[in-house]
Amino acid sequence: MDFVRAKEIIEEMADAHVTGISFTAGEPLMFKEDVCGLIQVCRQNRIYTRVVTNGFWANTSDLADKMVSALRKSGLSQLRISTSRWHQENIDSVNIVRAAAACVKQGLDYFVSFVTDFSETDDAVEQFLKDNKLLYYPEPVIYFGRAQSFDRKQIFTDYYPNMCSMNAYVSPNLDMYACCDAGNRFSETGFLYLGNLEKESVDELFKKKEQHQIYHLIRTLGLTRMASYLGYNASEIVRYRKCELCEILFNSKKNLKKLEQGIDDLTIRLRN
Ligand code: SF4
Repeated sequence: MDFVRAKEIIEEMADAHVTGISFTAGEPLMFKEDVCGLIQVCRQNRIYTRVVTNGFWANTSDLADKMVSALRKSGLSQLRISTSRWHQENIDSVNIVRAAAACVKQGLDYFVSFVTDFSETDDAVEQFLKDNKLLYYPEPVIYFGRAQSFDRKQIFTDYYPNMCSMNAYVSPNLDMYACCDAGNRFSETGFLYLGNLEKESVDELFKKKEQHQIYHLIRTLGLTRMASYLGYNASEIVRYRKCELCEILFNSKKNLKKLEQGIDDLTIRLRN
């Protein structure tokens, strides 16, 4: 993404009342100078910032200190350090400890995002985080992108409503999606695609997002009740993680048509 264009987009986002931006997907700190510059633009516009990183840059304590210092000086609000048994195939686990230690030392808010499939295989990763007294939160692996090829254990969840706040996502080619985790995943329907910022403004695309009736139902009624409305049995619904259920429901033209026709009915359910 061109730096000047990225800067303009952040300014347009500020005008559209965006209050938080996360630099994520891939490894943003491979573009340290640009990301630091964009964090400064966010700070000037009073936008909370987060960078999601795998900590590849923390090979020594000195290097970790330098990176954290640059981020802090740029005005970064929070660093989120990702770890998992898959990340650690390429990055030394000690990098996570060094990155976190540099944040603590320099007063930068951080947490470790422990990406897991909730199998016992991941207990060793979690024990490592505990042993090193790191602040961490487990986060479910989303089986999109490269993770699509991972083995999946069948799970049975509780009957959660599965609402989703839907944070918008802008890709390097300026495509904007209504959800950060979807990207171009919904290939059959393009359900979460809002448009491209070369052709439409930030404001126009946010308006599309806010006025979309099915997105509104995802935020308020939740995926579970929509799945039930579409005829999925409760015994099937509890087998899916949230984003998988989302894909099953909305990457189907047939389901979308039925939902569009049933909007009034679903809106009444929302009131009950
Ligand atoms: S549930 Fe759907 S809208 Fe929400 S994060 Fe997952 S894919 Fe995106």
